[in-house]
Amino acid sequence: MKLSKIISTYALLLILNAYFYQMIFPSKLIEDAVNAFATLPGIGKKTALRLVMHLLQRDKEESRKISEAIIRMRSEIKFCKHCHNVSDEDICGICSSPYKDKTVVCVVENFRDIIAIENTRHYNGLYHVLEGLISPMDGVGPEQLNVKSLVERIELGTVKEIIMALNPTIDGDTTIFYLSKLLSKHDLKITSIARGIAFGGELEYVDEITLARSIQARLPYESYLNNKS
Ligand SMILES: [Zn+2]
Repeated sequence: MKLSKIISTYALLLILNAYFYQMIFPSKLIEDAVNAFATLPGIGKKTALRLVMHLLQRDKEESRKISEAIIRMRSEIKFCKHCHNVSDEDICGICSSPYKDKTVVCVVENFRDIIAIENTRHYNGLYHVLEGLISPMDGVGPEQLNVKSLVERIELGTVKEIIMALNPTIDGDTTIFYLSKLLSKHDLKITSIARGIAFGGELEYVDEITLARSIQARLPYESYLNNKS
């Protein structure tokens, strides 16, 4: 490619970049709203502008409800004193429920995992939110996570099983390894969620590590059938 063509392509990219990232707005109010939306993950300036235009076209009441919900959520949300789940009260609905099995605690990275597991309707125990994973690469150690409070819960003696429901990543495995060592002195059953092949998946497309773990964590055929139903 000729040098002049490279320079003109580069100039075009610069112009496009300037157009999309330095939009000119007819109103400072619109500009502020777009910039505010654009700070959210996955929302660029074009999407932010579309959202602002949508709000402008709708009833003022709708915008008021959205902003009120955000302000209330941000100022009134609490974190459960037992499990660190998000909660409207000091103790979350799961920890305070008389129907939950208080002898089992499922350790998760964040409260989104609780939502996912609760929606399976196949788990009836409690949770403990670590609020992250141990990550030496990112400088995250156990002291930055809710590890101390997990140990304190176990020391109370009610918990008999800990289920590690962490992401199958290096950080997830590091965290499981650390916690298992830390908790090994307690009279506890420590388990990890099975890591296998997604329902509807095809064996030939599954990576070797997942396939190997699926074979290692194989189940008797009867319990496989029971789990499916
Ligand atoms: Zn709780």
